[in-house]
Amino acid sequence: MNIQNYINGNFHNPIDNNWIDNYNPSNGEVYGQIPNSSTEDVENAYIAAKSALPGWSQTGLEERSRILIRVSELLEANLQRFAEAESKDNGKPISLAKAIDIPRAASNFRFFGHAITQFASESHESTGQQAINYTLRQPIGVVGCISPWNLPLYLFTWKIAPALAAGNCVVAKPSEVTPMTAYLLGEICNEAGLPKGVLNIVHGLGGSTGQAIIEHPDIKAISFTGGTATGTHIAKVAAPMFKKLSLELGGKNPNIIFADCDYEDMLNTTVRSSFANQGQICLCGSRIFVEATIYDQFKTDFVAKVKQLKVGHPSEADTDIGALVSKSHLDKVKAYIQIAKDENGTILCGGNAVTVNGYENGYYLEPTVIEVPNDDCRVNQEEIFGPVVTLMPFHSEDDVLQMANKVKYGLSATLWTNNLKRTMRLSNQLQSGIVWVNTWMLRDLRTPFGGVKASGVGREGGFEALRFFTEAKNICIKY
Ligand code: NDP
Repeated sequence: MNIQNYINGNFHNPIDNNWIDNYNPSNGEVYGQIPNSSTEDVENAYIAAKSALPGWSQTGLEERSRILIRVSELLEANLQRFAEAESKDNGKPISLAKAIDIPRAASNFRFFGHAITQFASESHESTGQQAINYTLRQPIGVVGCISPWNLPLYLFTWKIAPALAAGNCVVAKPSEVTPMTAYLLGEICNEAGLPKGVLNIVHGLGGSTGQAIIEHPDIKAISFTGGTATGTHIAKVAAPMFKKLSLELGGKNPNIIFADCDYEDMLNTTVRSSFANQGQICLCGSRIFVEATIYDQFKTDFVAKVKQLKVGHPSEADTDIGALVSKSHLDKVKAYIQIAKDENGTILCGGNAVTVNGYENGYYLEPTVIEVPNDDCRVNQEEIFGPVVTLMPFHSEDDVLQMANKVKYGLSATLWTNNLKRTMRLSNQLQSGIVWVNTWMLRDLRTPFGGVKASGVGREGGFEALRFFTEAKNICIKY
């Protein structure tokens, strides 16, 4: 199935008639083509967005809210179709797309549809000076949203929904590896009555189509989720133009397990936080540190559970681990397993490609647990972003805190303990944007979301996202 750009409410082929193959990771076959959009395509998207801006930015909050909530309802009504498309495009189990990805995309629209009606600004009386200041929160204008392949519609809508709610018009690009649900979203937006040009979706390669968005002098803000190297590049390009930037980047998150935790709960959640979505979630707990007194027990129990996970075709209901997103990503993850061996890591389970009957060319890999000799090794420091976790023991709180913080990233951390004082001490000192205590991936859309260090700058989520997508203007009136 070929997909097209969504510009000014209509579907268009790329001007240069340049196309890119779209692969189905579950069988390695090309199943369609997507536009390899040029600077001219991006310019057309920008012109459409600019033309729509006066109308949309002046549209009443209740009307904007109504349209966003309608998009949410239509996504829910099309759950099966979207989940199938996401699973086919990305390789993730359809059960996951149905339970998490598409419902969350719908929630993003519903949440920001409601949030904008509650968004307020401040006023300050300048006592003694007979003046009052108030803050206007105005839309920025035309903004760019660029998202990765791991949670395609989930992350695409996480940006688009607040941008639109705040009254901006958008030029957006999904990852070229997983463009399908973004394409289908265009149809839904038309059906929901989103005015033409308010949202424009261009498909293509990061280095050309994405580059044209970030370089565009009149696209005033960029919300980007993706790898740290790309985020660094975007920051360099955007800085001289003084664009507003929100960068949600990579992670190498610690999962810290103390002996006093609720063991069964921890064990089951740790399997999920290690391997959900084939380990391709920026929030996965890819470095597991276990208190020495329960280390051997944990190692035995964890490996036994991981061995039970079924690697299979994404469409099968009992599949736990689907296909990785692309051949090049599979090769990258396999290369890290070799690096682990070269660094004297011990492969406790997994480590091999899997052949799924009938889908021999799909990109399947066993969930892999590596016992590492020290925390400095490359597999413990670099983001692998696949079904691979490292395991090592620790002896004291200070010891584990130091190891947890000794990476360049700082996105999330998970802590398993029932000791309140320890919880408070560690969650204060862990260098990360989120600390989950006795849980993982429990998300409340009102909370600030983002990372520190090389995991990014800025916060999205709740009113933080609405603040990002607006300019604050102070008005001072003397009376
Ligand atoms: P990339 O950084 O490769 O790509 C992300 C997006 O940026 C894609 O749409 C890509 O296009 C585009 N892009 C690439 N180069 C440019 C450029 N020069 N200008 C503009 N856009 C560009 O990341 P991945 O898609 O590989 O995603 C995986 C990464 O995302 C991991 O590092 C992961 O940790 C991170 N991530 C972070 C999250 C967070 O919230 N902090 C959440 C989820 C993932 P194309 O794909 O077409 O090249």
